[in-house]
Amino acid sequence: MKVEELNLRNFRNIEALSFRPVGGVNLITGDNAQGKTNLMEAVWLCTGCKSFRNTSDREMVRFGQKQAKIDLAYTDRKNSGQIEIEIEKNRKASLDASPLPSPSKLIGEFTAVVFSPKQLNLIQKGPEERRHFLDTTLCFIKPAYASVISNYRKLLVHRNILLRNPQNFGQEELLDVIEESMDPWVRIMIQQRGKYIEKIQEYASEFYAEMTENTEKLTIRYCPGVPENEIFHEILAKRRKTDRENGYTGKGPQRDDFQMEINGHSVARYGSQGQQRSAAIALKLAEAEIITKRTGSSPVILLDDVMSELDAKRQKFIFESIKDRQIFITCCDDSAIDRAKVEKRVVIRGGKI
Ligand code: ATP
Ligand code: MG
Repeated sequence: MKVEELNLRNFRNIEALSFRPVGGVNLITGDNAQGKTNLMEAVWLCTGCKSFRNTSDREMVRFGQKQAKIDLAYTDRKNSGQIEIEIEKNRKASLDASPLPSPSKLIGEFTAVVFSPKQLNLIQKGPEERRHFLDTTLCFIKPAYASVISNYRKLLVHRNILLRNPQNFGQEELLDVIEESMDPWVRIMIQQRGKYIEKIQEYASEFYAEMTENTEKLTIRYCPGVPENEIFHEILAKRRKTDRENGYTGKGPQRDDFQMEINGHSVARYGSQGQQRSAAIALKLAEAEIITKRTGSSPVILLDDVMSELDAKRQKFIFESIKDRQIFITCCDDSAIDRAKVEKRVVIRGGKI
């Protein structure tokens, strides 16, 4: 996967920008607040996912403007494509000049993996970050999975609304129907997430072992939010009273998590800064590897503000693990980056390169 050309208009602090990256390593440097992460965010949005910054679409439109625009031309082995995203209140996307019903329909067309300091949240923060990590990649490798999650979520929201608003008539029957309808989606989510974690464990533990020269062992274990071998609607039927008191559904894939351990101890609780960072990198490298193996094309790698924080040994390891891919690296100070690896270097200042 390769970005051939990126054109931005009124995207955050970028008024107008045109960038033709190379196929290898592209280094984007600049002082703080000049637009480095904004550029990465624009590339990421072309995957069809929401921003990795957790912001609303509207916030990405340049202050005082009505609309932001992203145009990205990419090639992927023998294919090529042209993605166009317009942002006003919401995002609207088109592929090869055909409007799509939703930007999420881009998922699987153009793929990327982001590494940013926020990735430490994968280790340090709550399970939501980890579920998001699982689902994003699963959507890339199996685009139909996006509708599985969305179907389940709609039913879950409906159930929670009913639990919070008891009615006298027909509610139990309606809950019966909703709960039974959840079964197939839950089965797929648990099965897919479980299988994916097995793969992640396989690759990430290998990366981690290499990074630590086989002195430490990383293990990853799936902790499903639904007791295994039980039928989901039967679990929910038994929980109705408790869930009604709480006002939400207390069991289900929305409670899934996975646990990471180094030499048998929780990385979140006992891991040093360096161990946590290495574990997060191993997870992301595993993600890139799985996408490549499953889709047959390697995702574009976006390294936002992470390289300059890594020691030379880790940097070298990352470069070696992701070689032959298109890479975008941002940093303020590029003196810590191995310049021999960089094929194109641009400076961004006030949203201009
Ligand atoms: P750092 O090195 O600190 O990470 P950066 O170069 O990555 O900096 P960005 O996150 O890309 O900086 O942000 C650049 C500037 O864009 C910031 O000053 C930010 O306030 C500004 N900005 C964010 N959203 C908008 C918007 N909607 N309109 C105009 N400017 C915006
Ligand atoms: Mg930044």
